[in-house]
Amino acid sequence: MARRLTEKRLVIASHNPGKVREISELLRPRQIEVVSASELNLLEPEETGNSFVANAKLKADAAALATKLPALADDSGMAVHGLEGAPGIYSARWGGPDKNFDVAMARVNDELGDNPDRTARFVCALALTWPDGHCEVFEGEVAGTLVWPPRGEKGFGYDPMFLANGDAGTYGEIDPVDKHAGSHRAAAFEMLVEACFPPAL
Ligand code: IMP
Repeated sequence: MARRLTEKRLVIASHNPGKVREISELLRPRQIEVVSASELNLLEPEETGNSFVANAKLKADAAALATKLPALADDSGMAVHGLEGAPGIYSARWGGPDKNFDVAMARVNDELGDNPDRTARFVCALALTWPDGHCEVFEGEVAGTLVWPPRGEKGFGYDPMFLANGDAGTYGEIDPVDKHAGSHRAAAFEMLVEACFPPAL
Protein backbone atom coordinates (compact mmCIF):
# COMPACT_ATOMS: atom_id res chain seq x y z
CA MET A 1 0.00 0.00 0.00
CA ALA A 2 1.23 3.52 -0.80
CA ARG A 3 2.44 5.79 1.97
CA ARG A 4 0.07 8.62 2.91
CA LEU A 5 1.13 12.22 3.37
CA THR A 6 0.65 13.58 6.89
CA GLU A 7 2.80 16.70 6.47
CA LYS A 8 1.05 20.03 5.79
CA ARG A 9 3.80 21.57 3.65
CA LEU A 10 5.00 20.37 0.28
CA VAL A 11 7.66 21.51 -2.20
CA ILE A 12 6.72 21.54 -5.86
CA ALA A 13 10.00 20.48 -7.40
CA SER A 14 9.62 22.44 -10.63
CA HIS A 15 10.89 25.71 -12.06
CA ASN A 16 8.24 25.68 -14.79
CA PRO A 17 5.64 28.36 -13.88
CA GLY A 18 2.94 26.66 -16.01
CA LYS A 19 3.34 23.39 -14.12
CA VAL A 20 3.60 25.08 -10.70
CA ARG A 21 0.37 26.95 -11.42
CA GLU A 22 -1.50 23.80 -12.51
CA ILE A 23 -0.21 21.68 -9.61
CA SER A 24 -1.07 24.43 -7.10
CA GLU A 25 -4.60 24.62 -8.53
CA LEU A 26 -4.96 20.84 -8.33
CA LEU A 27 -3.70 20.86 -4.72
CA ARG A 28 -5.92 23.75 -3.55
CA PRO A 29 -8.77 21.62 -2.12
CA ARG A 30 -6.23 19.63 -0.05
CA GLN A 31 -5.29 22.46 2.32
CA ILE A 32 -1.59 21.81 1.96
CA GLU A 33 0.81 24.73 1.90
CA VAL A 34 2.89 24.62 -1.27
CA VAL A 35 6.22 26.24 -1.97
CA SER A 36 7.99 26.04 -5.32
CA ALA A 37 11.58 25.09 -6.10
CA SER A 38 12.22 28.58 -7.52
CA GLU A 39 10.99 30.27 -4.32
CA LEU A 40 13.51 28.17 -2.38
CA ASN A 41 16.27 28.81 -4.95
CA LEU A 42 16.74 25.08 -5.45
CA LEU A 43 19.07 23.98 -8.23
CA GLU A 44 17.45 22.19 -11.16
CA PRO A 45 18.97 18.69 -11.35
CA GLU A 46 20.01 17.42 -14.77
CA GLU A 47 17.33 15.18 -16.23
CA THR A 48 19.47 12.14 -16.96
CA GLY A 49 16.70 9.51 -16.74
CA ASN A 50 15.46 7.67 -19.81
CA SER A 51 11.75 7.80 -18.91
CA PHE A 52 9.23 10.28 -17.53
CA VAL A 53 9.07 8.26 -14.30
CA ALA A 54 12.86 8.21 -13.84
CA ASN A 55 13.12 11.97 -14.37
CA ALA A 56 10.20 12.78 -12.06
CA LYS A 57 11.77 10.65 -9.32
CA LEU A 58 15.17 12.23 -9.78
CA LYS A 59 13.69 15.74 -9.39
CA ALA A 60 11.54 14.86 -6.37
CA ASP A 61 14.43 13.04 -4.65
CA ALA A 62 16.77 16.03 -5.10
CA ALA A 63 14.23 18.53 -3.73
CA ALA A 64 13.29 16.35 -0.72
CA LEU A 65 16.96 15.86 0.13
CA ALA A 66 17.70 19.59 -0.15
CA THR A 67 14.66 20.87 1.79
CA LYS A 68 13.85 18.05 4.25
CA LEU A 69 10.25 18.44 3.11
CA PRO A 70 8.12 16.07 1.05
CA ALA A 71 8.63 17.02 -2.60
CA LEU A 72 6.34 16.57 -5.58
CA ALA A 73 7.86 16.55 -9.08
CA ASP A 74 6.26 16.34 -12.49
CA ASP A 75 8.01 15.09 -15.57
CA SER A 76 5.87 15.33 -18.62
CA GLY A 77 5.86 15.83 -22.32
CA MET A 78 4.24 15.20 -25.64
CA ALA A 79 4.78 11.94 -27.52
CA VAL A 80 3.90 12.18 -31.23
CA HIS A 81 3.00 8.87 -32.84
CA GLY A 82 4.28 9.79 -36.32
CA LEU A 83 7.63 10.85 -34.79
CA GLU A 84 8.15 7.56 -32.92
CA GLY A 85 7.26 9.20 -29.61
CA ALA A 86 9.39 12.35 -30.02
CA PRO A 87 9.81 14.87 -28.49
CA GLY A 88 8.80 12.73 -25.46
CA ILE A 89 11.17 13.17 -22.53
CA TYR A 90 12.96 15.83 -24.59
CA SER A 91 9.84 18.03 -24.89
CA ALA A 92 11.33 20.85 -22.79
CA ARG A 93 14.65 20.69 -24.66
CA TRP A 94 12.94 21.16 -28.04
CA GLY A 95 12.08 24.65 -26.75
CA GLY A 96 15.82 25.46 -26.68
CA PRO A 97 17.59 27.59 -24.06
CA ASP A 98 14.92 30.30 -24.42
CA LYS A 99 12.13 27.75 -23.85
CA ASN A 100 10.49 28.95 -27.02
CA PHE A 101 7.56 26.63 -27.67
CA ASP A 102 6.53 28.44 -30.86
CA VAL A 103 9.80 27.09 -32.25
CA ALA A 104 9.25 23.65 -30.70
CA MET A 105 5.69 23.40 -32.09
CA ALA A 106 6.92 24.45 -35.55
CA ARG A 107 9.59 21.74 -35.39
CA VAL A 108 6.98 19.10 -34.52
CA ASN A 109 4.83 20.26 -37.42
CA ASP A 110 7.78 20.41 -39.84
CA GLU A 111 9.04 16.95 -38.88
CA LEU A 112 5.55 15.51 -39.35
CA GLY A 113 5.43 17.06 -42.83
CA ASP A 114 2.54 15.57 -44.77
CA ASN A 115 2.25 12.50 -42.52
CA PRO A 116 -1.50 11.95 -42.21
CA ASP A 117 -1.04 10.42 -38.73
CA ARG A 118 -1.21 13.45 -36.43
CA THR A 119 -2.08 11.55 -33.26
CA ALA A 120 -0.17 12.35 -30.07
CA ARG A 121 -0.29 11.80 -26.33
CA PHE A 122 0.56 14.02 -23.41
CA VAL A 123 2.17 11.97 -20.62
CA CYS A 124 2.73 13.05 -17.02
CA ALA A 125 4.68 11.22 -14.32
CA LEU A 126 4.31 12.53 -10.77
CA ALA A 127 6.77 11.52 -8.06
CA LEU A 128 6.29 12.25 -4.37
CA THR A 129 9.44 11.76 -2.29
CA TRP A 130 9.67 12.05 1.50
CA PRO A 131 12.84 13.32 3.23
CA ASP A 132 13.69 9.73 4.24
CA GLY A 133 13.89 8.80 0.54
CA HIS A 134 10.59 6.92 0.24
CA CYS A 135 9.03 7.64 -3.17
CA GLU A 136 5.65 6.99 -4.79
CA VAL A 137 5.21 7.45 -8.56
CA PHE A 138 2.10 7.71 -10.77
CA GLU A 139 1.69 8.16 -14.52
CA GLY A 140 -1.25 9.56 -16.48
CA GLU A 141 -1.83 10.31 -20.14
CA VAL A 142 -4.31 11.85 -22.54
CA ALA A 143 -4.70 11.12 -26.25
CA GLY A 144 -5.38 13.66 -28.95
CA THR A 145 -4.46 15.01 -32.37
CA LEU A 146 -2.20 17.85 -33.45
CA VAL A 147 -3.61 20.93 -35.19
CA TRP A 148 -1.79 23.51 -37.27
CA PRO A 149 -1.53 26.44 -36.88
CA PRO A 150 -1.52 26.50 -33.06
CA ARG A 151 -4.67 27.91 -31.48
CA GLY A 152 -5.28 29.82 -28.23
CA GLU A 153 -3.30 31.77 -25.66
CA LYS A 154 -4.21 29.80 -22.52
CA GLY A 155 -2.01 27.05 -21.17
CA PHE A 156 1.71 26.60 -21.82
CA GLY A 157 4.22 24.56 -23.80
CA TYR A 158 2.61 22.56 -26.63
CA ASP A 159 -0.96 23.27 -25.46
CA PRO A 160 -1.99 25.39 -28.49
CA MET A 161 -1.39 22.53 -30.96
CA PHE A 162 -2.92 19.71 -28.88
CA LEU A 163 -6.59 18.84 -29.29
CA ALA A 164 -7.53 16.19 -26.74
CA ASN A 165 -10.00 13.60 -28.00
CA GLY A 166 -13.53 14.77 -27.22
CA ASP A 167 -12.58 18.38 -26.38
CA ALA A 168 -14.08 21.37 -28.22
CA GLY A 169 -10.79 23.27 -28.48
CA THR A 170 -7.04 22.90 -28.01
CA TYR A 171 -5.55 23.12 -24.51
CA GLY A 172 -4.59 26.66 -25.54
CA GLU A 173 -8.23 27.51 -26.17
CA ILE A 174 -10.27 25.76 -23.48
CA ASP A 175 -10.72 26.96 -19.93
CA PRO A 176 -8.02 25.62 -17.54
CA VAL A 177 -10.82 24.09 -15.45
CA ASP A 178 -11.76 21.96 -18.45
CA LYS A 179 -8.12 21.01 -19.05
CA HIS A 180 -7.88 19.92 -15.41
CA ALA A 181 -10.92 17.70 -15.90
CA GLY A 182 -9.16 15.40 -18.36
CA SER A 183 -5.47 16.15 -18.79
CA HIS A 184 -2.53 13.79 -18.35
CA ARG A 185 -1.54 15.79 -15.25
CA ALA A 186 -5.06 15.55 -13.81
CA ALA A 187 -5.09 11.77 -14.45
CA ALA A 188 -1.76 11.25 -12.65
CA PHE A 189 -2.90 13.60 -9.92
CA GLU A 190 -6.08 11.66 -9.32
CA MET A 191 -4.05 8.49 -8.75
CA LEU A 192 -1.60 10.31 -6.46
CA VAL A 193 -4.36 11.89 -4.38
CA GLU A 194 -6.30 8.65 -4.08
CA ALA A 195 -3.22 6.71 -2.94
CA CYS A 196 -1.24 9.24 -0.89
CA PHE A 197 -3.37 12.17 0.28
CA PRO A 198 -5.67 12.45 3.24
CA PRO A 199 -9.33 12.83 2.16
CA ALA A 200 -10.45 16.38 1.08
CA LEU A 201 -12.11 18.39 3.85
P1 IMP B 1 9.95 18.70 -18.11
O1 IMP B 1 8.93 17.76 -17.52
O2 IMP B 1 10.35 19.78 -17.17
O3 IMP B 1 11.06 17.97 -18.74
O4 IMP B 1 9.21 19.53 -19.25
C1 IMP B 1 8.13 19.02 -19.95
C2 IMP B 1 7.79 19.87 -21.15
O5 IMP B 1 6.71 19.19 -21.81
C3 IMP B 1 7.26 21.26 -20.81
O6 IMP B 1 8.25 22.24 -20.86
C4 IMP B 1 6.22 21.48 -21.90
O7 IMP B 1 6.81 21.99 -23.04
C5 IMP B 1 5.73 20.09 -22.21
N1 IMP B 1 4.49 19.83 -21.46
C6 IMP B 1 4.33 19.07 -20.35
N2 IMP B 1 3.06 19.13 -19.91
C7 IMP B 1 2.44 19.97 -20.75
C8 IMP B 1 1.10 20.46 -20.79
O8 IMP B 1 0.25 20.18 -19.96
N3 IMP B 1 0.86 21.30 -21.80
C9 IMP B 1 1.76 21.67 -22.74
N4 IMP B 1 3.01 21.27 -22.73
C10 IMP B 1 3.34 20.40 -21.74
